[in-house]
Amino acid sequence: MKKLYTPGRIGDLEIKNRMVMAPMVDGFGTEGAPTERSLEYFRVRAAGGIGLIVVGNVHVDPEHRHLKPEFHLYDDSFTEKLRPLAQVIHSQGAKVFVQLIHQGRYARSSEYEGGAEAVAPSAVFTGMTRETPRALTEEEICRLEDYFAQAAKRAMEAGFDGVELCANSGYLFGQFLSPLTNKREDQYGGTLKNRAAFLTETICRVKEATDGSFPVTVRMGGNDFVAGSNTNEEACRIAGLLEEAGADAISVTGGWHESRVPQVTMDLPHGVFSYLGRNIRQSVDIPVMMGNRMDIFAAEELIERGDVDFAVFGRPMLADPQFPQKAAQGRYEEIRPCIGCNQGCLDHSMSGREIACLGNAECGRESELADERGLLPTEVREKTPRKLLVIGAGAAGMEFARVAALRGHTVTVWEKENTYGGQLRLASAPPARQDFKRLSDYLYKACVRAGVTFCFDRQASSGELTRQLEEKEADRLILATGAYPVSPAIPAERGMNMVQAWDVLSGQARTGKEIVVVGGGAVGIETAILLGEEGTLTAEELRFLMLYGAEEPDTLRELLNKGSKRVTVVEMQDKAGKDIGKTTRWIMLDRLKKLGIKVLTGSVVTEIKADGVIIQKDGENIKLSADTVVMAAGSRSDNHLLEQLKEKEGQVFVIGDARAPKKVMDAIRSAYDLGISIG
Ligand code: SF4
Repeated sequence: MKKLYTPGRIGDLEIKNRMVMAPMVDGFGTEGAPTERSLEYFRVRAAGGIGLIVVGNVHVDPEHRHLKPEFHLYDDSFTEKLRPLAQVIHSQGAKVFVQLIHQGRYARSSEYEGGAEAVAPSAVFTGMTRETPRALTEEEICRLEDYFAQAAKRAMEAGFDGVELCANSGYLFGQFLSPLTNKREDQYGGTLKNRAAFLTETICRVKEATDGSFPVTVRMGGNDFVAGSNTNEEACRIAGLLEEAGADAISVTGGWHESRVPQVTMDLPHGVFSYLGRNIRQSVDIPVMMGNRMDIFAAEELIERGDVDFAVFGRPMLADPQFPQKAAQGRYEEIRPCIGCNQGCLDHSMSGREIACLGNAECGRESELADERGLLPTEVREKTPRKLLVIGAGAAGMEFARVAALRGHTVTVWEKENTYGGQLRLASAPPARQDFKRLSDYLYKACVRAGVTFCFDRQASSGELTRQLEEKEADRLILATGAYPVSPAIPAERGMNMVQAWDVLSGQARTGKEIVVVGGGAVGIETAILLGEEGTLTAEELRFLMLYGAEEPDTLRELLNKGSKRVTVVEMQDKAGKDIGKTTRWIMLDRLKKLGIKVLTGSVVTEIKADGVIIQKDGENIKLSADTVVMAAGSRSDNHLLEQLKEKEGQVFVIGDARAPKKVMDAIRSAYDLGISIG
């Protein structure tokens, strides 16, 4: 058996395997306590085989009472309120810690009851909130240590197995640790030891307040990835101080929220920050956990090599709460992958919304969907199974087929192309977007396992579909025919090579050297990046040139960013990429910049010439020379079949983009919901 699936220890606590669910904000709580929805969300995750769950963002400070729907332990009344959470997780055989947090300068005063001022080691402005916090007094620091200790004691009394102190991502403990945000001249500032004093003293206070064997772990960055802050060298020294103070384990993650190194998007190779965990593991004797864009394969290797002791999974637990069990049984293909899109999780939580998952329509809806026996709809068989014919094997078509087949219907999918995936295939074409293909592969294999029949190269006509219904070969038709790209009505001269972005993404269109992309939404930007990256160094080339010192680092960086095409994006709106989630948008815009791709916003293409494009910007006409124009001007529902099948109302259903072009998450959600309700 692989080591990941064998028991591990934190202090005296035995954990049944080395898989840990990371603390995450879900937004399901109310007034600082879990709801039925929270309990069911965690119950399902504990039942999936994870060894330890760390319940995220539990607030400790009664002077800074968070208004968000997160959990609190700042007074005794919360001990009983949080007890059911520990119980429900224990009932499924997992252990549970709470992560105690103080956000310091990362909190807006408007997020606190009464608008209390944000506090920090020093009054250093942050762009995250656009506020300057107030510096804490020594007396307040001491009081905060006590708040943490009292909260840990309440966690112990409520039945939790341990606590994790949040010193990662730039929250209050991290702000003390960093010379960037800690400008103090007292015993809590200056040397690394002094900067760590708030944290090490808190560990001691927690130990004193609890029974001594109650585990206290610390989550910290292995490198802050912020210029002037702690690097992996200081991180090792900090970890040593934490061990000395009595920490029972260190949980390592990447850098701060303010870092310009992406931390959580699809751009990160799986397990890329694992070296940070290994680095710290070599400096301490206590167990080390490692997370950050960790998939099961990266985790297995990491633990097998002995680089760290536990692997931490956040978003994979949203995408598929059963993945620990499936992985332990070698059923890797059955794991619904987390693709790092952040569309339902981080983008939601950062805008104060409840979390969801692009690929998992059940995430966060467990209590709403489960029946009185606690079974989810995909675990229940229909009393009257039907013959269902699905047109289209994109995300919506496959998700519907998967769910309907699991419920016992006989499902056939017709797809006009010779393969599955639809727009997921296009979405996976740009650099660092390949995980969309993993989702597409998962859906296809899940359908096949559930007994769905696929017919590729099968064009559907209204006549044939009518016959299918009339001759009872199908009881219901589900149109998941997607969308098609639109071309804006722009006067165009002959001679210009005009192509659709979708054809560029699918590799079917030829492009020249000087390209104008019309439309700066997600598709336009992704296509521009794909084109802009043509001719840049590949990962293998970079490795070779670096290993042998063939070029200076600056030259290599230039070669990574210098492609062979000149690309310009023209966007009508005042900003490009408005339809991209907050956590991903800045990275894509940054990539455009690094690739030297110009983005002209507030600009309208008024004419296409044989050798360029005329745009209107700020009342002026400007000519951009080009040999290729790529249209990325949106899409329209492909629902021609619906119009032709009007008289079959009640037997015909439309899902996904065929209903209205939206995000993949919407397509999957609508497909799931129809799959569980169709009868
Ligand atoms: Fe992963 Fe995307 Fe789901 Fe978030 S929304 S858990 S990133 S697949």
